Amino acid sequence: MIVRCPVCGEKRLLSQAIGVCGRCLREDPAAAKPFVEAARRRSRRIFGLPETPPQDPQGLPCTLCVHGCRIPENGTGFCGLPPRSRESARLSWYYDPLPTNCVASFVCPGGTGAGYPRFARKPGPEYGYQNLAVFYEACSFDCLYCQNWHYRVDGPRREPSGPETLVEAVKPSVSCICFFGGDPTPQLPHALSAAEGALRRYPGQILRICFETNGSMNSNLLERALELSLRTGGVIKFDLKAWTPSVHYALTGAENSRTLANFLRVAQEFRARPEVPLLVASVLLVPGYVDAEEVQGIANFIANVNPAIPLSLLAFYPNCLMDDLPCTSWAHMGRCILVAKEAGLKNVHIGNRHLLWRGDYEEGACG
Ligand code: SF4
Ligand code: SF4
Repeated sequence: MIVRCPVCGEKRLLSQAIGVCGRCLREDPAAAKPFVEAARRRSRRIFGLPETPPQDPQGLPCTLCVHGCRIPENGTGFCGLPPRSRESARLSWYYDPLPTNCVASFVCPGGTGAGYPRFARKPGPEYGYQNLAVFYEACSFDCLYCQNWHYRVDGPRREPSGPETLVEAVKPSVSCICFFGGDPTPQLPHALSAAEGALRRYPGQILRICFETNGSMNSNLLERALELSLRTGGVIKFDLKAWTPSVHYALTGAENSRTLANFLRVAQEFRARPEVPLLVASVLLVPGYVDAEEVQGIANFIANVNPAIPLSLLAFYPNCLMDDLPCTSWAHMGRCILVAKEAGLKNVHIGNRHLLWRGDYEEGACG
């Protein structure tokens, strides 16, 4: 909605879930901070999650993600998971007929036949085959606009289960497994064991291992995920939420330096498998917050590493606590495509195209 921002005093497109406009988050983070901190605490309380990553000196350390929690007795980490619960994961899964609406399907074997015959079962879209979509019901981030937040209130869809249950779910008609959520990060050891088990069970079968993630995992786990995806023709999809740290923190409750470092690590291997892109970046264009300036920062970062890395710009749908914003407009999308191409990126894609609407936000609002 267009309201007066309490920091700059201007009428801006902003979400009450944050309480300040995107420009103030970027240009005056100190003044915006009290609003952001209040918003962050509010969001965590609504879902009964720890307000900040716990740091109990006597607590059990967890090093799975950027937060490095020390979890108190009978408590949970920032992700909402108790310690030592990771081999028996909270997850659900389903069979998604290929080609799917997967964020990378505009370049991947399942959507295009890229890498056929080594990595794809058909020279075009893999009709007749399936993606095993594995949804992990926990997340290391706390995005105020989360598109998959229902698991937080609905509770688990299945009893927590070990990796072998997931291995059993893999059928000969499954040609890719996509680990997403939530985010796979807080339960990544489970995902890696399941992927390794499935590959052992179906030797010689095309079975791509893909991850869709906020990229906050520790580097050892990333190396294992990277090796699996590289070897099998899979894709690692990094959701880059914002470029400016203060904007990123306001939207997600986490800093973005780990994500960017992990992105760089995967990007180093991009040339190792030219037939299928190993890495795809996506950016959700949140009206008023993730504007062309944010996309420009991200696009320059990617282009400096390798301009061939595909970028999907995703249209936003109002959701979770940020349901008071409009969907992304075509004008907003157009500005972002322009800066991404000017940065030198060779493959810029529009995702969620059906959500885009003609027109633009009010004059003066960013986007
Ligand atoms: S996965 Fe991350 S958020 Fe969850 S307990 Fe471990 S360090 Fe904390
Ligand atoms: S899971 Fe991987 S191979 Fe399958 S559709 Fe998604 S990106 Fe493509």
